[in-house]
Parts: sequence; structure tokens; C-alpha cells
Amino acid sequence: QADMAMYQAKGAGRNNYRFFDAELQIALTARATLEMDLRQGIANNEFRLHFQPQVDATGQVQGVEALLRWQHPTRGNVSPAQFIPLAEQSGFILELGQWVLTTACEKLAAWRHDPDLSPLRIAVNVSAKQFRSPRFVRSVIDTLTATGADPSRLELELTESVLADDVESLVEKMTTLRAHGVLFSLDDFGTGYSSLNYLKRLPLDQLKIDQSFVRDLMTDPNDAAIVCAVLTLGSSLGLQVIAEGVETDAQKDFLRRHGCAQFQGYLFSRPLAEEALATFLEARRPVGQAA
Ligand code: C2E
Ligand code: MG
Ligand code: MG
Ligand code: MG
Repeated sequence: QADMAMYQAKGAGRNNYRFFDAELQIALTARATLEMDLRQGIANNEFRLHFQPQVDATGQVQGVEALLRWQHPTRGNVSPAQFIPLAEQSGFILELGQWVLTTACEKLAAWRHDPDLSPLRIAVNVSAKQFRSPRFVRSVIDTLTATGADPSRLELELTESVLADDVESLVEKMTTLRAHGVLFSLDDFGTGYSSLNYLKRLPLDQLKIDQSFVRDLMTDPNDAAIVCAVLTLGSSLGLQVIAEGVETDAQKDFLRRHGCAQFQGYLFSRPLAEEALATFLEARRPVGQAA
């Protein structure tokens, strides 16, 4: 893409070329610096996982989604929406993804003896590039073994972009991990290019309705129709459906009425640091139930 921009700029004449070249140079340098900072970030312990509760219709917390946070010494908090795409392009996502997986499994193992935390699943986002790596399946199994985490508490969130791959090998990888007890969820469902024909072949446990459909659910009849269609599809395929980005009671009630049984969103909780999660769970413990 950079080559293309350069080519076009050259064609636009000498002055334009020099202007564009300088601008491009700055953009490329900024990117290279951010990339170097990303690599340093792991060594410098700048990454953290936050955990966003996923609740059922009774308000019981069933699990949490692990969401990556980067606290850079001078850049401050950098959003995953910024650095994940860069990490994907540079290949660094393999290392970062492994860090997330290891850290999530360590948490699962550490939470085993805590009455509030031990029943929870952790959902981990896996980028298509990471899943495509030939070492992925082995690394998940090895990480589970090394940390002593219960595989049935680990859920992997894939996006529809994995469907660009050879479906045979996709199904094979998922089947192997599922045989170990690992669960699979299809994230941001409806935003990619899922063919229903592929969807029926994937050994999934859950569909995750993208927040872009939930946002205007109460005002946009098209969004409401899509949400209802996904809920029906999930139930026909025997899959759990979770709605993400639930912010209001009205959205939750609509989703519930149409058969949704799992919810995630600011209405229940923002993503929380581990200590805040423990406090959140403690506050919701049924009265009279001791630790
Ligand atoms: P996602 O997996 O779809 O995660 C949901 C995003 O929605 C999170 O943003 C979450 O904080 C946000 N969210 C949750 N509830 C609400 C709500 O009620 N309203 C609104 N407006 N937003 C809500 P976040 O943490 O900024 O993450 C953005 C994306 O970055 C994630 O989208 C995921 O695609 C990616 N990401 C985050 N952590 C990881 C990771 O460890 N690995 C990979 N590969 N990607 C990650
Ligand atoms: Mg996700
Ligand atoms: Mg999502
Ligand atoms: Mg999303």
C-alpha cells in the first residue's frame, strides 16, 4: 500500500512527490516506533488483562471476557482498537496473543480456590492470524498443561475472518481443541462475511451478536430484525447466543424476550481489573453466603 501511494505521488509531479514523501515518511516512522514500543511493552510488563463480566438472565456471572490493556509510560493508555491491528500487520500478534493466552490460563489456575472466581469461564480473543499459525493448537494445549488451567473454563473467541481460511483445517483445529474441553465463540457475528453454509460446519458453542446491532436495537427496526434472526439461527443450530454492548434495561429486556440468555455490556459492568472484579463478585454474592 505504501508502494502504491509512493507511485501515485510520483505520478502527481515533483512537488507533490516531495510533499507526499515527507508525510509518508513521518507516518511510517511513527508506525515503526509504535511497533518497537509494542515489543518493549511485554518485556516492560506494560500489558494487563481486564475482565468484563458475562451474565445470564438471572444476573448470575457466568464468565468474563479478557480484554487487553496497554499502559505505555509516555503514550498513556493505548486502545486495543489501535494497537491490535498494528500487531496483526507486523506479526507481533503471535507473541502478544501467546502472552494473553498464558496470562488468562494463569488466572484460571489461580482462581481455582476462590469461591467467587472459580466458577467463571474466561473468554480470550484470538486473531485470525494467530489461529492460522501452525503452532496454535499445540500452544493452547501446552499452555493449559503448563498452567494447570481447566480447559473447559477456557473459551476462544474467533471472528468471521477465520472463515477466509481453508474450512477443513479450521474445523480440524477447532475439533482437536474441543476434544480437550475448550469452548468456541464466534465474535462480532454479523459484521463479517459468514456464509451460513460454513457456519453450520463449524464446531461452535456460541455466537456473539455484535454490539453494532445492539446499539440502536430499540430505534432501528433493521437492527431489531437482525438481532431476532441471529437469536433464531442460534437456537436452530443449538448454539448459545450472547449479546455484547448491552447498555440499557430496554435492550436487555428486548433481547430476553426474544430468547437471548447471555449478556455483556456496560449495563452490567465495564471491563474490570482483577481486584475490581473480585469486589464486583463479592458485592453480588447472595446474602448469607460466606466465602
Ligand atoms: P471485542 O472482542 O468485540 O470486545 C468488545 C469491546 O466492546 C471491548 O472493547 C469492550 O470494552 C467494549 N464494550 C463492552 N461492553 C460495551 C458496551 O456496553 N458499550 C460499548 N460501547 N462498548 C462496550 P476494547 O476492550 O476496547 O477492545 C476492542 C477490541 O480489541 C475487541 O473487540 C477485540 O477485537 C480486540 N481485542 C481486545 N483484547 C484483545 C486480545 O487480547 N487479543 C486480540 N486478538 N484482540 C483483542
Ligand atoms: Mg471479543
Ligand atoms: Mg465482539
Ligand atoms: Mg466488537
